[in-house]
Amino acid sequence: MVRLRGVRKRFGSLEVLKGIEMDVHAGEVTCLLGPSGSGKSTLLRCINHLETINGGRVTVDGELVGYRERRGELHELHPRDVAKQRRKIGMVFQRFNLFPHMTALENIMEAPVGVAKRPKAQVRADAMELLENVGLSDWAGHYPAQLSGGQQQRIAIARALAMKPKIMLFDEPTSALDPELVGDVLEVMRDLASAGTTMVVVTHEIGFARSAADTVVFMDDGVVVESGSPEQVFDDPKSRRTQEFLESVL
Ligand code: ADP
Ligand code: MG
Repeated sequence: MVRLRGVRKRFGSLEVLKGIEMDVHAGEVTCLLGPSGSGKSTLLRCINHLETINGGRVTVDGELVGYRERRGELHELHPRDVAKQRRKIGMVFQRFNLFPHMTALENIMEAPVGVAKRPKAQVRADAMELLENVGLSDWAGHYPAQLSGGQQQRIAIARALAMKPKIMLFDEPTSALDPELVGDVLEVMRDLASAGTTMVVVTHEIGFARSAADTVVFMDDGVVVESGSPEQVFDDPKSRRTQEFLESVL
């Protein structure tokens, strides 16, 4: 579903991604771990072309993201075409950034109605079902400020799902939450995983990664240091850097 080949990203003279190779298979959960500053967020942002890349290729669902290739050269796509590609990719950030002046239900309905131009009645029915799936049917009419951080994050997940993306990207979705609110969000993510949603999750929640991931990828300093099943990476890490990181978070 997602294929990264030799992906490079520089900010000025700082090379943040140094030739990333990664494959995410349909229906699988990939957890991305690594120290702060290793390039995890940048990597996620390259998958939906929130960042331009300086080398390599990103494809999602068989389609080159952000560029058109002609005679071996990449030409950036028109923003309209990028926007179309992004509809296939749901993203959930550490900060939920819901629209503050819209209710939970309106937040979820906004893109399917405003962007995808789907019929309102159908979108509303879908949105109510999504609210139910994230355990918040009773909160449809509430505004973000009236919801806890965990509830807001579950609305943000429902909002991303409302566009029926092919893949969901999560960037530390629980790290801004009070500890007692983390569990409900992880439970929603576990449900999504069980339902066969293709997901890439940047997280420091080792327990979640161990139980939900098909593949764990450990990054450090802009490279993939190692990847494998949770058992391989957590119980028998090959690299010294992975061992040290795991010791620091466990
Ligand atoms: P992580 O998510 O693993 O903590 P990031 O991808 O956020 O890492 O950042 C990787 C490196 O890139 C860091 O050194 C960070 O300071 C730098 N960086 C990220 N975004 C920008 C930007 N827009 N401009 C300049 N440097 C950036
Ligand atoms: Mg980050």
